[in-house]
Formats: sequence, C-alpha cells, structure tokens
Amino acid sequence: MSDKERSRAPEDQQGGLEQKVLQEYPRLGPSDNFQFSCHPGVSCFNKCCADVNIVLTPYDVLRMKRRLRISSTEFLDKYALLPVNKEMKTPLVLLRMSDDENKSCQFLTEAGCGIYSDRPWPCRMYPLGLAAQKDTPDGWRGDRFYFLLQEEGCMGFGEQKQWKVSEWLEDQGLDDYDEWGEAFKELSLHEYFEEGGVLSPEKMHMLFTACYDLDKFREFVFESTLLQRFEIDEDFVAEMRCDDEALLRFAYLWLRFSLFGEPTMKVRAQVAEAFKGSVEKQKLFNKEPV
Ligand code: SF4
Ligand code: SF4
Repeated sequence: MSDKERSRAPEDQQGGLEQKVLQEYPRLGPSDNFQFSCHPGVSCFNKCCADVNIVLTPYDVLRMKRRLRISSTEFLDKYALLPVNKEMKTPLVLLRMSDDENKSCQFLTEAGCGIYSDRPWPCRMYPLGLAAQKDTPDGWRGDRFYFLLQEEGCMGFGEQKQWKVSEWLEDQGLDDYDEWGEAFKELSLHEYFEEGGVLSPEKMHMLFTACYDLDKFREFVFESTLLQRFEIDEDFVAEMRCDDEALLRFAYLWLRFSLFGEPTMKVRAQVAEAFKGSVEKQKLFNKEPV
C-alpha cells in the first residue's frame, strides 16, 4: 500500500483480506499498544495533509457538508473527485486536494485541520489501518484487525505517548464512523457483486446519488411518488425531511431493496396488486400469436 493512500482498503470487493497486507503488516488487536503522537510541536506538522488519496464514505460526506453548511451537491462539486473506471463496482469518491504546488488539502490551516471534529474516517484512523472482511451470512463478524501505517517523514512515531488501539479509536471518535461503515458495507460488499453482478450506469448513478448526494436524494424522495409506494412510519418520514442521518438510513434500505431485491422495505398492498396486474397484462400482450 502506498504511503499516499489513506483509505478503508484493504477490504476488497470479494470479501477476502489482501494477502499482501496479511504478510507485510503485523496484526494489532484492540488491546495492543503502539507509540505515537501528532501535535503542532512535531517538525512535520501538517505535511501529511497534502497530495494524498483520501477515500470518502457517504457518512464522511454527510459530516463535512453539514460542517461547511453547504449542500451535498456543492460539496461534491468543490471538494470531491469522482474517478471512473471499468473495474469499479460501486462509485468512488475522493477528497479533492487544492491545485497549489503542494496539492494541500483544502481544509488545511496553519493551526492544523480546519474541520477537525468532522474530518473524514481515514484522517481519524491514521496511523492505524483497518483490514476487515465482510460479515458471514450466519451473522459472524468477518476477520478484522488493525495495523500500523507509517507515512514517510512522519515524526509522530518518535514521540513518547503510548496508546492501546482501543484507546486510540475512542479518542478519535470512531464509533459513529464504524457503525456507518458497517452499514455501507452491506451495500458496497454485497453478495450481488461477489456473484459477478454489475450495475447498469443508471443504477450506479442511483447508488451514487442516494449515498453521497443526500440533498438531491431528498428532493427525489419528497418530490416523486416513492413514499406512496412503500409502507413507511410517518415519524420516520418526518425525520427524513430534516435529518441527514435518517435520510441516509432510508437510502441504504431503499438501495438494498431496489438494487438487490432484499426485503428491507414493504411495498403498499395496492401498489403490489397494481404491479401484479401490469405484469399479467404485459404477459398477455407479450403472448406469441397463435
Ligand atoms: S481533512 Fe483535515 S486531517 Fe484530513 S487531510 Fe484535510 S486537513 Fe488533513
Ligand atoms: S506526518 Fe505524522 S506526525 Fe506529522 S503531522 Fe502528519 S500525522 Fe502528524
């Protein structure tokens, strides 16, 4: 793994841990120790917040756009890169660095991170990396361990402060991020992909909008007939109007239903009947002439 990567990888789309990581990085568990400290007194302060690939999850985008008080659409336009290649099974969203000579992060200030309490998952985790497998269908959590990533020139490892892995995770406020990360895994590592499924460009766009462009997704939810088609608790609907977390929860349920056919949503009875009717009608019209 490059020093210039900070991401949730090596969790791969096939659900297996990359052998390279297993071989090259010693595993750390929650009670293992490491020595590290990052503060304005280190000679490298702020140097690692430039020219780096930071993969954003939907929850990272939610936290940052809210912190900046801008819409998700504006955030994606200004602060994200959306690389596309044929191998990608789900959309990839990277934090866009500025165009200056150093390619610094757009949130970097002399005093450090300008959005510190809403910084994305990879910035919280460093110097730890996480390797995790998809949970198994019987509910057991897949193999999961931490390892130390040491960026070139990072002086934090020369500092005296000792951490247990679990203390670091708590100190960096990773609980919420982990919970949302697990929920996102239900989509991004879905067995549909493991079985070779490929989303059409329209479905890929749907996945991108519902996960990352929440404000646009909210317009779609409230300005289309979507809510009329499912049985959804009224309080939850009211929450979704103004609460981004509620909307993202709904987005995940709806995507699992509409992309992968999971029973995460209940279709209203009359819609199901009407649908059945239209299918029967279709069958009738598609009949071979006798
Ligand atoms: S978001 Fe903050 S911590 Fe992360 S790279 Fe940018 S300035 Fe650094
Ligand atoms: S390189 Fe290491 S010690 Fe230096 S600012 Fe970055 S994380 Fe902190």
